[in-house]
Amino acid sequence: MADAQSAPASGEETTTTVITATTHLTLPAHPTPLTYDQLNPKSIPHEFFGPIGTGGITILAPLFTYIFFYTCNDAVGCTPTSVGGWKRSWELVGDFPTQAGKFWDWKAAAVYGAWYAFCIACWAILPGDKIEGNLLRDGTRKVYKMNGLYTLLLALGISLGVILQPGGIQAYTWLHDHWVPLISASLVMATAQAAFVYVWSYYSRELLSLGANSGNVVYDFFMGRPLNPHPPFFPSFDLKTFNEVRPGMILWVLLNISCACEQYVRLGTLTDSMLLVLVFEGWYTFDCLIQEHTILNQMDITTDGFGFMLSFGDLTWVPFTYGLQARFLAFNHVTLGPVWTAVIVAIESAGIYIFRTANNEKGNFRAGKNPKNLEFMQTERGTRLLTSGWWGRSRHPNYFGDWLIALGWCLPTGFHTPLTYYYLVFFIILLVHRQMRDDEACKKKYGKDWDKYCELVPYKIVPYVDRGTADEAREKWGQREATKWTVEGDNKGNRAWTEGRMGSKQAISEGIVLVQITLLSRL
Ligand code: NDP
Repeated sequence: MADAQSAPASGEETTTTVITATTHLTLPAHPTPLTYDQLNPKSIPHEFFGPIGTGGITILAPLFTYIFFYTCNDAVGCTPTSVGGWKRSWELVGDFPTQAGKFWDWKAAAVYGAWYAFCIACWAILPGDKIEGNLLRDGTRKVYKMNGLYTLLLALGISLGVILQPGGIQAYTWLHDHWVPLISASLVMATAQAAFVYVWSYYSRELLSLGANSGNVVYDFFMGRPLNPHPPFFPSFDLKTFNEVRPGMILWVLLNISCACEQYVRLGTLTDSMLLVLVFEGWYTFDCLIQEHTILNQMDITTDGFGFMLSFGDLTWVPFTYGLQARFLAFNHVTLGPVWTAVIVAIESAGIYIFRTANNEKGNFRAGKNPKNLEFMQTERGTRLLTSGWWGRSRHPNYFGDWLIALGWCLPTGFHTPLTYYYLVFFIILLVHRQMRDDEACKKKYGKDWDKYCELVPYKIVPYVDRGTADEAREKWGQREATKWTVEGDNKGNRAWTEGRMGSKQAISEGIVLVQITLLSRL
C-alpha cells in the first residue's frame, strides 16, 4: 500500500513516499524524472582559460614535477644559480648517474603498482564507517567507506617494521633512490585513469560534472567529465574519493620518511629541520584522515569531475612535490637551533589552530550544532551562514590557516633556495582561485543574501587585510540577527556550479589579495 506526499520541487525539498506504516523512502522532489540530457547540460569551457589553459597545464604540470627533481638534487644542488649549473641540470636529464633520475624503471613501476593495489586492498578489507554523501542531481546519494586512517596506520606500521630491521634505514631509502621512475609510474597511473573515465563516461551514461561537459576533449579530459566515476562492475569503489586522500597523500608521508632515512644514512642523525618537516607534513595527512568524511563537502567531491586535474594532482603532484622540503633536507643539512625552531613551531601551531577551529566551527554548524553559540544569518535558500567566530573574520579563514601551515613546512629549509618555497606560491594561487570559484558558486546559491554576507564579512581570505570593514556593513544592514539557536539540519544540497567568467574588477581585487599575501610571506 503506497501513499505519496508531494512537496513542491525546489532546492533540497523532498517527497516522502510511505511504503508501509514503518518504511519511508526519501526521494528528491523532481515532479517528473529528468532525462540524461536534462541532468547533464552542455557546459562552456571557461575555467583555467579554457582548452588552451587546461591543455597547457596538462603538459606543464607533469613537466614541472620532473623539473623540480632535475634542478634540485645532490648532483647539481638546489636551483642552479649559474648558466653552467642549468646546463649541468639539463645534461643530467636522461643521463642521471643513479637510478633516482632515470625516467623509467620496471621495478619502480611494479612497486608503485603494488602500492596502489595495497591501498585498494586496505579499502576493501579494513573496517571503516559507511558514510552517506551529498544528495546528487539525479536524486541519489553515494555511500563511501571511510578507512583511510587505518591504511595510513598499517603503512606506517609496516614501514616501522622495515626500518627497525638491521640495515632497515638504508633499505627504506629505496623510495628516495627511485624518485623519478616512481614519478613516471604514478603519471602513467594518473593518465590511464583520467583517459579511461573520460572514454567510459560516454558509454556508462553516468552523472557528469556540470562544468566539464563541453564537448572539447582537451578541456573535458582535464576537468573531468564524470562526476563520480567507478570501475565497471564495482559501483561502491569511488575513484575520486579514493584517490583524493589515500594513494597520493599517504605516499607523500612514506616518501618523506624515506628522505629522512637518506639524511640519517648520510649524517648519522636527523636535523631539527628534518624533524619539523616530518612531523608537520605527517600531521597534515594524519589530521586529514582522522576527518576523512569531511572531504565529502569539499568542492573536489561535490562539484569537480574526476579527470586529469584530480588524478594527476592526487597521484603525482601531491606526493612528489609537496615533500620537496624533505628531499632538499636529505642532502642539505639545515640546523635551525632553538630560536628558529620555536618561531616555526609557533607559525605552524597558529596555522593548525586557525585551520582546525575554522573547519570545526563550520563542520559543527552544518551538522546542526553550535557549541560556541556563534552568530549567523538566515538565508532565503534555507541554510544559514555563520557571521561570527572565524567565519566572521574572513570568508575563507580555513584557507588562511592552511596557508600558514604551508609556511611552516617551507621555513625549516632556511633561505638557501627559493625552490623549497614553491609550494607557498603555488598554494596562494590555488587558494585564491578556489576562493573565487567558491564565492562565485555561493553568489549563485545565495543571491542577495551572499552580497549581504560579503558586506558583513568583507575580508576574503586574510582577516583584516582586505578592504572594507564589518562595522560599515553592520551600519547598513543593522545589527546582526539575534541568534536564538535552533538546530539546523545538515546541508546536503549540491553546490551550484558557476558558469560565469570572473569580471576584470574582481580579477584585480584578487591580484591585490595575492600581492598582500605575498608581502606577508616576506615579513
Ligand atoms: P570550504 O571548506 O571553505 O567550504 C566552502 C563552503 O562552505 C561554501 O561553498 C558554503 O557552502 C559554506 N560556507 C561558506 N561560508 C559559510 C559560512 N559563513 N557559514 C557556513 N557555511 C559557509 O571550502 P573547500 O571545500 O574549498 O576547502 C576545504 C578545506 O580543504 C579547506 O580547509 C582548504 O584549506 C583545504 N584544501 C587544501 C588543499 C591542499 O592542497 N592542501 C587544496 C584545497 C583545499 P554551503 O553554504 O553550501 O554549505
